[in-house]
Amino acid sequence: MLTETNTEAALTEASVRAIFESERRRASALFAHWEHPFTGLSFNRARRAYGHAHADGRVVLSNTFLGTSATADLQDTIRHELAHLIAGIRFKHGPRWQQVAHSLGARPRASGRSQSSELQEKMSDAPFTLIAIMRTGEELVMRKVYRRARRYQDYRYGKRGQRYHIRGEFVERFEYLDHRGQQK
Ligand SMILES: [Zn+2]
Repeated sequence: MLTETNTEAALTEASVRAIFESERRRASALFAHWEHPFTGLSFNRARRAYGHAHADGRVVLSNTFLGTSATADLQDTIRHELAHLIAGIRFKHGPRWQQVAHSLGARPRASGRSQSSELQEKMSDAPFTLIAIMRTGEELVMRKVYRRARRYQDYRYGKRGQRYHIRGEFVERFEYLDHRGQQK
């Protein structure tokens, strides 16, 4: 069986809102009582915190997510903030929040920061650049990253039935440019 993976699912405000809505529904199904009932989602330009929950029920997400493919980190941030609304903001990241966050499937961590190399790259230098070598021979610069991922290093078109595609074109293999040791 072939698995085709679109590597470039850049997040838009619409897709972020759709992901948020599905997470909110899921959380509502799990928790009937919310200390701060949800009132609305908005975006800000924060570059240090990726999300914030307010006592009036608003959730604010950093627009840093837009244009990236950091869907897992977005999902984690949303769960983290929803857990604050459910548990009560005054309890911070204590046991009550941790229990809710765990039920929602958020990674247990106190900070609202993302671990996504792609997001962090927006603020700093990353040592590698991921390049997609297309079946057409074209080379696409994808993004700067902190770590080389085995799933890209080991990937060859059709191997184990895997086929990555970008904008409808298939990827033959990936390469990393290594910037370590270069002058900054
Ligand atoms: Zn928090």
